[in-house]
Amino acid sequence: MMDDVLNTPEAKDLAPGPRRLLSRLRSLMAAQDNAQKRLDNLTSMIAEETGADVSSIYLARRSGALELCATHGLNQEAVHNTRLQHGEGLVGQVALTAKPLAAADAQSHPAFSYRPETGEEPFKSFVGVPILRGGRLVGVLTSQTSEARTLADGEIETLQTVAMILAEIIASGQIIAPEELAGLDVRPSKSERFQGGAFSPGLSIGVAVVHEPHVSPVRLIADDPEDEEARLDIAINELRLAIDDMLDAGRLPFGGPTRDVLEAYRMFAHDRGWLRQLRDAVKQGLTAEAAVERVRNEHRARLMQAKDMNFRERLHDLEDLANRLLRHLDENSQDAGAPLPDNAILIARSIGPAELLDYDRNKLKGLALEEGSATSHAVIVAKALGIPLVGQVEGALDRVETGDPVILDGEFGLLIMRPSEDVVEAYADRAAAMSRRAAAFAKLKDAPSVTADGKPFELYLNAGLLIELKRLEETGAAGIGLFRTEFQFMVADTLPTVSEQAVLYSAVMDACGARPAVFRTLDLGGDKVTASAPAMREPNPALGWRAIRMGLDRPGLLRLQLRALIQAAAGRKLDVLFPMIAAPWEFFAARDMLEAEIARAEKYGHPMPKKWRAGLMLETPGMAFAIDEALPRADFVAVGANDLMQYFFAADRLNARVSDRYDVLSPPALRLFRTIQQACAHHDVPVSVCGETASKPLEAAVLLALGYTKLSMAAGSVAPVRTLLNGLDVGRLGAWLASRLDHSGRSLRPELLEAGVDAGLPPEAVDNSRII
Ligand code: PEP
Ligand code: MG
Repeated sequence: MMDDVLNTPEAKDLAPGPRRLLSRLRSLMAAQDNAQKRLDNLTSMIAEETGADVSSIYLARRSGALELCATHGLNQEAVHNTRLQHGEGLVGQVALTAKPLAAADAQSHPAFSYRPETGEEPFKSFVGVPILRGGRLVGVLTSQTSEARTLADGEIETLQTVAMILAEIIASGQIIAPEELAGLDVRPSKSERFQGGAFSPGLSIGVAVVHEPHVSPVRLIADDPEDEEARLDIAINELRLAIDDMLDAGRLPFGGPTRDVLEAYRMFAHDRGWLRQLRDAVKQGLTAEAAVERVRNEHRARLMQAKDMNFRERLHDLEDLANRLLRHLDENSQDAGAPLPDNAILIARSIGPAELLDYDRNKLKGLALEEGSATSHAVIVAKALGIPLVGQVEGALDRVETGDPVILDGEFGLLIMRPSEDVVEAYADRAAAMSRRAAAFAKLKDAPSVTADGKPFELYLNAGLLIELKRLEETGAAGIGLFRTEFQFMVADTLPTVSEQAVLYSAVMDACGARPAVFRTLDLGGDKVTASAPAMREPNPALGWRAIRMGLDRPGLLRLQLRALIQAAAGRKLDVLFPMIAAPWEFFAARDMLEAEIARAEKYGHPMPKKWRAGLMLETPGMAFAIDEALPRADFVAVGANDLMQYFFAADRLNARVSDRYDVLSPPALRLFRTIQQACAHHDVPVSVCGETASKPLEAAVLLALGYTKLSMAAGSVAPVRTLLNGLDVGRLGAWLASRLDHSGRSLRPELLEAGVDAGLPPEAVDNSRII
């Protein structure tokens, strides 16, 4: 990264002051001296250029102490011997606050700490600036004089500029070869743990890969500062236009920033303070890229210390904005997709399903998201791929760098950065135990689907990607209970054609063989966005124009999809499920469309499905209350528990603050499930439950006790659910529930776990009030 800094031609006519200092800095770095010599020369040069008597560089050690690594003016014996603890002395204060500190008379400063070995008694004035990189403290650069004095204008800025370059040089490993570092590690080395939500099971020990990493500038010192100013202006203009374009186009890139975030970007991109800081840094002799980096580092360090969440949110925005500006400045500054390590654990703020699928699935072993909730689509894709995912690890991105060793625990929702050896060992043991368990589960694929008291049940897969079809065999599932057809649309840049759709549907039917496959028609809108769908801007997308509403209002797309389904099902059974039905007439209209397409295919003499059925996806409480009216025309019902519960509790499934607030095992929610089941039984219409509720063993047991016998779930849940259900006395659980469903209460969960065997649960399934 530093090559350009070292190899660029000597600057021509740099102005004196900071610019001359930067020019000398470049020559010094280009010299073939060893690392220590370079650091020593650097301190001498800084002292000379700034008129100081002392210039010293302290770097952060693995232990957290700040070690004097080079000095001009203090005793040379102190180098590598003087270590200041975090917060100790004025240097420690600079480190603690990550802000510059100036004292006219250092020894009278309350934080002064005397270190005789340095011989610093004769020196009076002190200036220290943090050496920051990526918002982290790498070290402290100080300057001292023997006279008590006040600072000259711009002196701190000059030192900050040098510190910024120093940080890049240190990170590049060119000034201090790693083997000479003697354990001097500028990255945070302490292990850190983040407790988040366990959204996709599994355990991975691997290496962190930051999604959309921090972009670092390639050139740091300007050849021609005027040129740099002009480049900065052009890039800022381009950045503003690009943001305006994204906002005005009406369609935001999937997985990218939301409208609110873009509005914030637009505000920052016009913020006078930010622009002034950038210009000042360029005037000092930095390249436009280095100026962006320097200003970003300062903001980062400051915002990271903010207690207020809103400020910390802004940190992400500024980080993104700086990356965008760097990309406008230099196309090559993007991290050109370094190869993914074999055991990559991706760390992202948020990610869209399409972006997730862009990563090599053989190498991606885990995913940690700062945002995300259990039922968001990235999570559904991660589950489909069998990748552990931990969500809501807020602040993780600020603490991790690509290459850090990490452990991702999708069972307990933990992300552990830079784990100690014994933690790695403990997890390696657990990972081995889990693979044994997975092997045992794999053997269960042929286990009968029947409860301990002899009641049969059927477990189906929720799927949406071709790659998931092999899980049918692996799990021994009874078929596909929910095929989310929108995934194909979400991962494509252009609208899939009828024949492309038919190829996919046909492959799904091939994989299922004699087993049923239920195709849900497009469920776009809400959190499901596609690059090819019409632009939408809705105040409340979950309650907006989505799924069947779109399908009925603009029937073109739905009609073509129905055609593709009919085409794929030639000579076979076709099950079509219509999502988000909120009122019977919507289902009737959708069914009419299917009937019309069947009639059309017949008329044109196309090969016909052997049999077809139209299903109603019950995802709104309103539909549950109108079910008796709709059932006479429904061939089957699938309860979409994710959405049904979202609307029942009026709690956004994507909003982590509220998505776990209410429990599906509460009497009112269970009464709703019971009503639906009883109505379907009364009309003799088969009913299944899909959504996350059916994927959880305890919830699945309760659904069985309410009379449901068909459950559809992510592949990874089949074996754990089947294991629990095999040991369940469903008659007993039914009786236990019956007496409690009409009670009031927040959740039956604790009571049920407490009752354990008395409620019909298998004894070995409950441990410490949790299901294993
Ligand atoms: C549901 O809502 O429960 C469901 C299965 O559909 P999706 O999660 O795709 O909205
Ligand atoms: Mg749904």
